[in-house]
This record gives sequence, structure tokens and C-alpha cells, in this order.
Amino acid sequence: MKYLLVLLVVGVGIWMLVKRLRSGGGSAGESPGVSERAAPVSMVECAHCGVHLPAADAVPEGSRVYCSEAHRRLGPSPTPPA
Ligand SMILES: [Zn+2]
Repeated sequence: MKYLLVLLVVGVGIWMLVKRLRSGGGSAGESPGVSERAAPVSMVECAHCGVHLPAADAVPEGSRVYCSEAHRRLGPSPTPPA
């Protein structure tokens, strides 16, 4: 009688696994939360070196933003990148 319960639990487990694989689209299906995390991030350009970085990581100063505290101290590049 104990085995019936084990069989039921295993059966439900397999059913959930199959259900997840089918809803996942079939490809990898390992991490369904990837598309949620790939939300668009606004990118800004460092005024000194021109590197693009997420706005959350930028160091703002006035109307300009920099990639790091060091570049903020150095100020805007004299020859802006083309
Ligand atoms: Zn920079």
C-alpha cells in the first residue's frame, strides 16, 4: 500500500516535468526565467572614453555621464569618439 503513494508522487512528478517541458517551447527549457531577466536596459555613453554602459552603473555629473569615478574626475574627452 505504501508503494501506491510513492507511485502516485513519482507519477505527478513526471507529469509536472512533461508539462513544464511542453510549455517551455522545447529548446533548452532549463531556465524559463531568462526572458524575464533580459528586460531592456537603458544604455548611456561615457563622456570621456565613449564606452556604453547601463545607466544604473553610470556616474552622472550635470548633463554628462561617465563609466567610472576616475573618468568623471578626468572630465569629458577633448576629442569625442566618432
Ligand atoms: Zn569612461
